[in-house]
Amino acid sequence: MLTARLALLTRRLADLGPGVPRFVVGDDGDHAVANEAYELELHARERMVQDARDLSAALERLDDGTYGICEACRDRILPERLVAIPTATRCVRCQAAAEQRGDDEPRAFGVPREPERPLEEQ
Ligand SMILES: [Zn+2]
Repeated sequence: MLTARLALLTRRLADLGPGVPRFVVGDDGDHAVANEAYELELHARERMVQDARDLSAALERLDDGTYGICEACRDRILPERLVAIPTATRCVRCQAAAEQRGDDEPRAFGVPREPERPLEEQ
């Protein structure tokens, strides 16, 4: 299921192509509309890229046998939670604690949660 979702996301990202033009000729109204479309699309892409990252991280955890284990307390994550959020990395309790600390703010685009491994290890 995760693999299928990742494949779908990757396809959708590829299908997006180069995207809407950043600069348009026209009046200020045209520019405003184009800017808004650009921002919306950028945001949608960022989400898809992040989703793809989360999914591939979940697949790695499946591979190494840590899938469903809370990264904070090492307890098992409840199956119901994994059904609802297949890419969850924390149990409900640790997730709530992280959100209270403000740890779970959406990550900025291009800033991975964990240091990225060098390409040759992937
Ligand atoms: Zn936990």
